[in-house]
Amino acid sequence: VADDPALRHAVAVREQYTGRAQRYYFDEPMTVVSSQGVWMSDTEGLAYLDAINNVTHIGHADPTVADAVSRQVRRLNTNSRFVYAQFGRYAERLASLLPDPLAVVYFACTGSEANDLALRMARQVTGRTNVMVVDGAYHGNTTAVLEISPDRYDSPGGGGRPDTTHVVVQPNRYRGPYGYDDPLAAQKYAADVADVARRLSAEGRAPAALFTEALIGSGGQITLPPGYLASAFEAVRAAGGLCVSDEVQIGIGRLGTMWGFEAHGAVPDIVTLGKPLGNGMPLAAVATTREIADEFDRGIRYFNTFAGNPVCCAAGLAVLDVIERDGLVERAASTGAYLLSGLRGLADRHALIGDVRGEGMYAGIELVRNRTTKEPADAEALYISQRMREEGVLIYPNGRFGNILKIKPPLIFDPSHVQILVDTLDSILTEDW
Ligand code: PMP
Repeated sequence: VADDPALRHAVAVREQYTGRAQRYYFDEPMTVVSSQGVWMSDTEGLAYLDAINNVTHIGHADPTVADAVSRQVRRLNTNSRFVYAQFGRYAERLASLLPDPLAVVYFACTGSEANDLALRMARQVTGRTNVMVVDGAYHGNTTAVLEISPDRYDSPGGGGRPDTTHVVVQPNRYRGPYGYDDPLAAQKYAADVADVARRLSAEGRAPAALFTEALIGSGGQITLPPGYLASAFEAVRAAGGLCVSDEVQIGIGRLGTMWGFEAHGAVPDIVTLGKPLGNGMPLAAVATTREIADEFDRGIRYFNTFAGNPVCCAAGLAVLDVIERDGLVERAASTGAYLLSGLRGLADRHALIGDVRGEGMYAGIELVRNRTTKEPADAEALYISQRMREEGVLIYPNGRFGNILKIKPPLIFDPSHVQILVDTLDSILTEDW
């Protein structure tokens, strides 16, 4: 920052005029000025390989999206109470990609709004208030969804768990009681879901819903044991609750399948979508069954001025076109497999790596100071991400202890990009520090 006047100025203006609760990546922030494909450029014209951006899903400055948006912005943009073709067309497209009986779509602008709406829907439709969530989860920033986000209410200033939120054990096979080597891990973790649902029912406060992701994102890139989701959903439904899949991070292809829940043989009652839908344009959605929608529609109106506006829907349609045209879901699966095998190769050589996990183009590298005690190597994770940035590759730590390097590149990553990422990480891990 000290050496770069443009960056110094950008940071100073930001610090003076914007609230500091709005954090940025890196202690010494980088100011990005342009981006293309898998690359982002800073004020000095240096290019960085973007392995962190889960919003520019199909790549930065995608020409198909750019053309669709600019055409639409010149023709029509308006609030969502008018009828225009894009709203229905995009909803139809999403519904056609979702499995039965998910058939009705509501639009929102952010993942938080989508989860907020899903929460309201679940409560209204079941007539219940209590909600189950997975430990460590993050579901968004509205006041309502912060209350079902242990990641936030458990953090300093978060105020603790509200009485109506009930936490199930995180199915974490690296740190949890049942490991990768336990063939019954899924059933054992799901037994906790059943226990909590039964206890709540016995106490006269049966759950409205379980909120979960099919790969727990901000909670630490936790891959679920196969079968967990199906058993967990069964337990929640047995208690009369609804199953909400938060696909805000993983929807439309990141995990190498169109939907995260798809690989788990489970179909939720409500799905929430966000980040990647508009490739950076604010576009989010809630999908549910006709039955739940009809019941919800009997309640108060849902109006969201910008949600599903013509420009954002045009972006969303273009994103799906590109995903289909370029086979990006299949590509996420194959490039993702290459990424995981590269990262697992590093784990064989570097003791700091305690666990490598992931699906498709979503990976987590958990760093520990000691493989037996699993002491989180949080300072090391931050240091490595700063060094990676100096070497031109963007990744960042997250998870409860801040010791997991999160890797979430655009789906257009190819093996040569993976190689740059793996080689750079390898050389930094080999350094004397
Ligand atoms: N759900 C999950 C799983 C998320 O990771 C996030 C954002 N990190 C959200 C919801 C909230 O999305 P947004 O920031 O678009 O409101």
